Amino acid sequence: MIQEKIINDQILEKMSLENVFKIFNDNVFPMLNDEEREYCLTLQEFCIELNPKIDKSKDVYELFPELGKNGYIQRINQWRDFNPVGMKKEILLGTHLSILDPQLELARLASGILCGNPTFHYYTHGGKSDIPQKIQDELLTGQKIGCIGITEPERGSDAVNMTTKCTKTDDGVVYNGEKVYTTNGPKADYFCCYGVYDELNPRDSMVQSIIARDFGVKTERLKINSVPRVHISHTIFDNVNVPKDYILADDGLGYKRLFEGLVPERLSIMGSGIGICWAALIYGIIYTNLRKQFGKPVVRFQGVGYSLADLLTKSNAAISLALQAASVYDEKILFSEQPSKEAIKWVAGISSQGKYYVAKLTHEICYEVQQQMGGVAVTDNTPVDELMDISKIEEVIGGARNIQLLLIQSQIQRFMGLL
Ligand SMILES: Cc1cc2nc3c(=O)[nH]c(=O)nc-3n(C[C@H](O)[C@H](O)[C@H](O)COP(=O)(O)OP(=O)(O)OC[C@H]3O[C@@H](n4cnc5c(N)ncnc54)[C@H](O)[C@@H]3O)c2cc1C
Repeated sequence: MIQEKIINDQILEKMSLENVFKIFNDNVFPMLNDEEREYCLTLQEFCIELNPKIDKSKDVYELFPELGKNGYIQRINQWRDFNPVGMKKEILLGTHLSILDPQLELARLASGILCGNPTFHYYTHGGKSDIPQKIQDELLTGQKIGCIGITEPERGSDAVNMTTKCTKTDDGVVYNGEKVYTTNGPKADYFCCYGVYDELNPRDSMVQSIIARDFGVKTERLKINSVPRVHISHTIFDNVNVPKDYILADDGLGYKRLFEGLVPERLSIMGSGIGICWAALIYGIIYTNLRKQFGKPVVRFQGVGYSLADLLTKSNAAISLALQAASVYDEKILFSEQPSKEAIKWVAGISSQGKYYVAKLTHEICYEVQQQMGGVAVTDNTPVDELMDISKIEEVIGGARNIQLLLIQSQIQRFMGLL
């Protein structure tokens, strides 16, 4: 609902989701095969149908069951008979949902990928308990909400050296500690949470569990202005008893799963970021083609048109990189009987490069598009200001800028071993 409309009616009418998808398809469909195009068209129909039901004054969570009914809480892994699946489909899902509603996409990714993915990894690694399957079904239907607890008040980028303490009991483990910035935390039914038996040796003692809120998890909502429809918490574990069946990876295996999760997580975040880039850019393209000043469309002024041309080039570079990285991940890792070590190394590196590049680009594009559109873009008359707001957090989530650069720098040093 626009509070006070000042935008020209004819322009507003053209800035529809249908038209955004038309311009997106014109740019992206030549890179996709028939199955991928079909998948996108179905997703677009879903988004266009859901759009009028979204109330931007309400939290995003009531929309989860709508996503769940269509198998759109995640698309990396095969779940029930929702097809097609894989990392490329997940990237395209994140892109479309960000174009539809970037805050819904943030919360969806935290529940479906950050919390949901570990339940799939549990079974890939031979897990036997039925509990993670039940939780997976609850999360992926959108009936329940999940989150991930890695970051602590004193351990952000240095996440491995976490201080949340796990203690073994006869039938499970007790968690004591605090997590921060837990996306979905205040609303979550399940917390995929990491702790260590030995703070001095986290690599060999890390535990990953999926903890039900009613085991005694406490949450306090943080005030984060840029995503008001998503709840993010300070999360407290005060002697929380977790039964064995809820432990996904014990005795140091939690460390391996933490890292196994980071690559799909970063690739998925790229998908969300790409949607933010395309949405802001396309709204900018439509508006500047229709808005006239000095007797002509403002896009014809070089100051406006060249800037959008620069951003279009970068958006295409970003989506090409994401789709290529996802194709390699699908072909050589996810669907391969013998995952290629070379591909695993490459995708780990490229997921950091891509996450770094795309996250930064969301901010550049949203800011530049706002400047090129003028005043209307900072009002609620177009979706661009909401995109600008969420772009502020893209670089911090999933590992801040410097941590991606640190990982990329370590690759650069490894190249010398080739000589
Ligand atoms: C909106 C939002 C949602 C989030 N959601 C989740 C979530 O669901 N679950 C979760 O566990 N976490 C979540 N996070 C946490 C996020 O992953 C961390 O904020 C991030 O890892 C950085 O940690 P920090 O904020 O403590 O910064 P710090 O680690 O304190 O870093 C401060 C600054 O120092 C830099 N720095 C740190 N170490 C180095 C180094 N070695 N070299 C160079 N520079 C360095 C950083 O880049 C940064 O600029 C979320 C964060 C936000 C803001």
